[in-house]
Amino acid sequence: MVSITANIQIVQDKIEQACKRIGRDTEEINVIAVTKYVNVEKTEEVLNAGLQHIGENRPQQAVSKYDQLQERGIWHFIGNLQTRKVKQVIGKFEYIHSLDRIALAEEIEKRAKYLGIKVKCFIQVNVSGEESKSGIDPDKLIQFSREVKQFESIEVVGLMTMAPLTENIEVIRPHFRRLRELRDYLNEQQIFDYLVKELSMGMSNDFEIAIEEGATFVRLGSILLK
Ligand SMILES: *Cc1c(COP(=O)(O)O)cnc(C)c1O
Repeated sequence: MVSITANIQIVQDKIEQACKRIGRDTEEINVIAVTKYVNVEKTEEVLNAGLQHIGENRPQQAVSKYDQLQERGIWHFIGNLQTRKVKQVIGKFEYIHSLDRIALAEEIEKRAKYLGIKVKCFIQVNVSGEESKSGIDPDKLIQFSREVKQFESIEVVGLMTMAPLTENIEVIRPHFRRLRELRDYLNEQQIFDYLVKELSMGMSNDFEIAIEEGATFVRLGSILLK
């Protein structure tokens, strides 16, 4: 039996240490508990244990959990989102971490407008350039952002990336650094009339590096739930 409370404590200690190393305030770091591995009962335990942000990557599973737990959590859609599935998650998921194409933005806009809400989105960037990864090419970020800006119901809160899969965690660091530089560049270019603040990066095996490089949302699954 894993104790979620004990795992949360371990994670919080690691976050504290990483913040201390780099001189950041732990308040800046939001933990998203990625509950894709577990059922609704376990997901509820996560909420009971004090975590608020819940991440899911499959629409059907995600919506079923949302329908049972609703406002007890703040819901993040972190996986690839098919355009035809957008309807299911809008109005339930406050954040979408995988905005990577205009067709998706159009659909989000349409559904959000219909409900009269705004959706907080992260633009997913494929920093590593691996073909298997989703996300826009870093060179296209400015142009893509200009296009996304037209959609009134989309608020671009930040950038998201997935690090390459590797045993050598130090290989990962430059990718996280690059995402931070891209966010800063985006703000310098003043594409949006607000500051794009957030960085969604770091998973169970690399979140400490991500925090050292500026992450504001870390997406943690196995370290909390396995
Ligand atoms: C599964 C998943 C995570 C969590 O991964 P862990 O290694 O289990 O922490 C984070 N982000 C995304 C997009 C995922 O699909």
